[in-house]
Amino acid sequence: MARYDLAVVGGGVSGLSLAWRAARDGRSVILLERSPRLGGCVRTERTDGGYWFELGAHTAYNSYGAFLDLAVASGLRDAVVERGPARARFGLLRQGEARWLTPPRVLLELGWLEAAVHLPAGLLASRRGQTLYSHFSRLLGRRNYDRVLGPFLSAVPSQRADGFPLEGPGSLFKKRPRRAGFPRSFGFRDGLQSVCDAAGRTEGIAVERGVEVTGLARGGPGFTVSVAGGRTIEASLAALAVPADAAAPLLRGDFPELAALVARVGTATVESVGVVLPRERCWMPECAFLVPVDDSFFSCVTRDPFPDPSRRAFAFHFRPTTTREERLARVLEVLRAGERDLLHLAEARVVLPAPALGHGELVAEIDRCLAPTRLALTGNYFDGLAIEDCAGRSEREWRRLSR
Ligand SMILES: Cc1cc2nc3c(=O)[nH]c(=O)nc-3n(C[C@H](O)[C@H](O)[C@H](O)COP(=O)(O)OP(=O)(O)OC[C@H]3O[C@@H](n4cnc5c(N)ncnc54)[C@H](O)[C@@H]3O)c2cc1C
Repeated sequence: MARYDLAVVGGGVSGLSLAWRAARDGRSVILLERSPRLGGCVRTERTDGGYWFELGAHTAYNSYGAFLDLAVASGLRDAVVERGPARARFGLLRQGEARWLTPPRVLLELGWLEAAVHLPAGLLASRRGQTLYSHFSRLLGRRNYDRVLGPFLSAVPSQRADGFPLEGPGSLFKKRPRRAGFPRSFGFRDGLQSVCDAAGRTEGIAVERGVEVTGLARGGPGFTVSVAGGRTIEASLAALAVPADAAAPLLRGDFPELAALVARVGTATVESVGVVLPRERCWMPECAFLVPVDDSFFSCVTRDPFPDPSRRAFAFHFRPTTTREERLARVLEVLRAGERDLLHLAEARVVLPAPALGHGELVAEIDRCLAPTRLALTGNYFDGLAIEDCAGRSEREWRRLSR
């Protein structure tokens, strides 16, 4: 039976960040990933001739310190690429008509009478205990929220964001120090997934892909991890870095209290469709993204910030209630293209957390329960969904485990 210092379940940013920190501290690590690919929600779709586009996460910022540590240590300092001018242009699609905006021009979309009526009281109101909807509809008015702000906020987590907490864990807004020497927003020469692939090659980490973990039990030197097919792996320490809905069943046997708490984290499924078109078949002006008002998708993110002379790519993120046929039909309709125009088509389904008010208290309870154990829990359902929230959580969890 194989024995390691640490077994990490899940090969997304969270699992890789934790595995890398443990390996850097001289621990022997095994990382088990269900999919044949590392990265999870970080998914760079690669096509012919070295072209790629992001089907999942697309942007990193110079405020992503823990993620930058991982990227730099994985040898990708020189692969950082600043996002080009298209990053500052975006579209709002309402009733079939797209309006092309820039950050200041988006303000012109607001109904100013409604905003003026709400702003004075809204500015004085407390932010504590508010959701995105309760805060911003109080600040700008409900109609402004529904017509303008709400769709942009929902585009960030690819789900209705109205019930997200305004502040604290689970919030979409975080103030973090910016790291000098890196562009404000950036990607990587071969896509974000190149960071995950490189991190997986860190010395001291044994990566097994296409391996589903089916059980986690106290036993042996600390933990026994069971994988599909009946094999078991022993490790002194263990880390679960899988979405909340996958973590809860694994915890149920030996950590029932933790399982019950993690099961309380709401989740949302995101169905993504990515397509590549010849540049001459695209009608949209170059832009970072298109956000619809009240549609079957939450956003269409382009690769335009990293322009290519002959191709353009678009990743649409849909509600889970749509069928595959409906998604493809809507993609073609929005792009005004036919199936024959597509140079490449890719699809993905991921589960994201849907944090609600009280998420901070739930995370604090999970952490209290976790403190006396040699088990780490990490992922995007603690601090927030951003890549940096995941990398930062993993950093703190490894510090706790290695103490
Ligand atoms: C469409 C989209 C766009 C986004 N855009 C951005 C962005 O621009 N910037 C940003 O900062 N963030 C963005 N995010 C959020 C961010 O990408 C994710 O929150 C983050 O990557 C999650 O990482 P994770 O490792 O916690 O989880 P995941 O990426 O979900 O990884 C978990 C891994 O665990 C594996 N797994 C699950 N169960 C098992 C099991 N039983 N055994 C073994 N393995 C298992 C899964 O296969 C998966 O690979 C975006 C997310 C999405 C979906």
